[in-house]
Amino acid sequence: MQAPSVVSAKDLCLTYQANDGPVRALSDVNLDVRKGDFVSFIGPSGCGKTTFLRVIADLEKSTSGEISINGMTPAEARKARAYGYVFQAPALYPWRTIENNIALPLEIMGYGGADRTRRIAEALDLVGLSGFEKKFPWQLSGGMQQRASIARALAFDADLLLMDEPFGALDEIVRDHLNEELLKLWARTNKTICFVTHSIPEAVYLSTKIVVMSPRPGRVTDVIDSTLPAERPLDIRDTPEFLEIAHRVREGLRTGHSHEV
Ligand code: ADP
Ligand code: MG
Repeated sequence: MQAPSVVSAKDLCLTYQANDGPVRALSDVNLDVRKGDFVSFIGPSGCGKTTFLRVIADLEKSTSGEISINGMTPAEARKARAYGYVFQAPALYPWRTIENNIALPLEIMGYGGADRTRRIAEALDLVGLSGFEKKFPWQLSGGMQQRASIARALAFDADLLLMDEPFGALDEIVRDHLNEELLKLWARTNKTICFVTHSIPEAVYLSTKIVVMSPRPGRVTDVIDSTLPAERPLDIRDTPEFLEIAHRVREGLRTGHSHEV
């Protein structure tokens, strides 16, 4: 039996009205994300990856087509706190300690006292930052700051995590490490993850499903179901299976580009 649908998009279109005319950011996107999937969205800058996450999160409205999140509209899903959102830059407030940064959205949502304290401790533990509660963001490395922003998104304990190029600004060694950690976290928590990246190895290493996109207008050119096992040591990246999937992603990206004039 198939796992229940978490994100379902049907013929989803979004056109921005910019000063110099309309921009077709998403064109006829059809996609099913199932519970427990780790889905990566890969494609060149401007192909609508962020826009798609923003539609899921009810930060943008689609122009036509349908989208549902756990069977709800994006507005209902937002009210039900159906997801956590991790932005490209850590976006931590420099004047708040790590624990108070994580506390902020919980405060806004009305979580108080012991419940809030427990959620913060659990989220920090999940990202390996226990002991750093009282530090300020500037006292942490870039990788640790990004972990803290993941902890902030985890603190609601939503089943769905939306991550927009969370490791894009980090060096490769730190990124490798965080990729490994993220896979472990995903396996432990059984969350559904929608992850945006520019990196082919990152997409292939992390995902159960890879969505290849192309720009102008933003479309899905390929959806690849990974054949890699759940258990993935970093050196899986040297195996023929891995390279085969990476090759197919590259082909999908190239096909998308050939539409450009
Ligand atoms: P990606 O995240 O894949 O780089 P985006 O979703 O940010 O792409 O953007 C898709 C397209 O929509 C781009 O051409 C971008 O310039 C355009 N775009 C994004 N946001 C807006 C906006 N608020 N107004 C007008 N155009 C936008
Ligand atoms: Mg983007």
